[in-house]
Amino acid sequence: MKILITGGAGYIGSHTALELLASGFEPMLLDNFCNSTPDTLPVLAELAGQALPFIEGDIRDRDRLDALFDRHDIGGVIHLAGLKSVGESVTAPLCYYANNFGGTIQLLAAMARHEVRNVVFSSTAAVYAPSEGRVCEDAPIAPASPYARTKLAAEEMMRDVHACDPRWNVSILRYFNAGGAHPSSLIGERSVDDPHNLLPRITEVAVGQRERLEIFGGAHPTPDGTCVRDYVHVVDIARAHILAVERMLVEPGLSIRNLGSGRGHSVLDVVNAFERVSGVTIPRRIVQERPGELATVQCDPSRAREELGWSAEHDLNRICADLWRWCQSDGAAQCTA
Ligand code: NAD
Repeated sequence: MKILITGGAGYIGSHTALELLASGFEPMLLDNFCNSTPDTLPVLAELAGQALPFIEGDIRDRDRLDALFDRHDIGGVIHLAGLKSVGESVTAPLCYYANNFGGTIQLLAAMARHEVRNVVFSSTAAVYAPSEGRVCEDAPIAPASPYARTKLAAEEMMRDVHACDPRWNVSILRYFNAGGAHPSSLIGERSVDDPHNLLPRITEVAVGQRERLEIFGGAHPTPDGTCVRDYVHVVDIARAHILAVERMLVEPGLSIRNLGSGRGHSVLDVVNAFERVSGVTIPRRIVQERPGELATVQCDPSRAREELGWSAEHDLNRICADLWRWCQSDGAAQCTA
């Protein structure tokens, strides 16, 4: 079955393409390169042992989508295309709504016109209301940023589309903090200017782009006083998409599942793990904690385990080791050059 991956040249999309191919599907990639580069395509071909069909285009381009669905017998869509910077979404909300929500409207409309009704959607744990501890799918919803609200709006639209026409199969995956890179170190995360996430910040310090890591608060009610979060390897996330596609083909309907490791790691755990696997010292300084910052947020991944047979196989050391190898590679050097 041919599966269209929107955002296929991106971080999660490129890993998902390889996993799809390895599982016997035919991935077809669509991307406008707004946060990725064409250089990824030959690398993917090298890793896959064959060129992967690719179309350059924007999910908001109705004609492009119609031509794509007309020409190719697409069985389902893994929809990853979107903008993902929380900070940028605050300063450019219209851009985020236009791309993430408007783009999803165009995509679903094109799918409906061509009677393709299987979609796996990349959402985020940021749709949940801020609360301490483990988060399951039934937790209260209250996204705190425009970015997360665009994801929730897309989720809700998909629910409505499914409610109106139950032939639609919708699998919503809410990721926690993705990290790591492909074990080949040939693909990894290329984007992010001024990242807000811990792992890219640590790598900036490791490669000398940032003098030291600022750790927000050292007196949280956690074992070492720093915030605890859930990190999940990008290859594990990619694998979950294939399981989600396979599941929806045998068990149609609408589902929502968290993707996280279920393990919590403090900021210091992550810094220490990174130092251990890289051999690089990360200068750090504890600074004032951010207002409203939660001490512990951890994924409850039971539903994905029970329904998909999925669990995160890569641990924190592996996330840090693969990330560090990627950071030292030519591919990563090109995107920081
Ligand atoms: P990414 O930026 O690396 O990949 C997204 C890709 O989509 C990029 O290649 C970009 O060029 C493309 N794109 C964006 N808008 C497009 C458009 N209008 N038309 C065509 N292509 C477009 O990001 P990622 O980390 O791979 O994330 C993939 C998806 O998962 C995103 O939607 C993101 O919001 C979501 N997500 C990511 C994380 C994470 O930790 N990385 C966590 C939660 C959710």
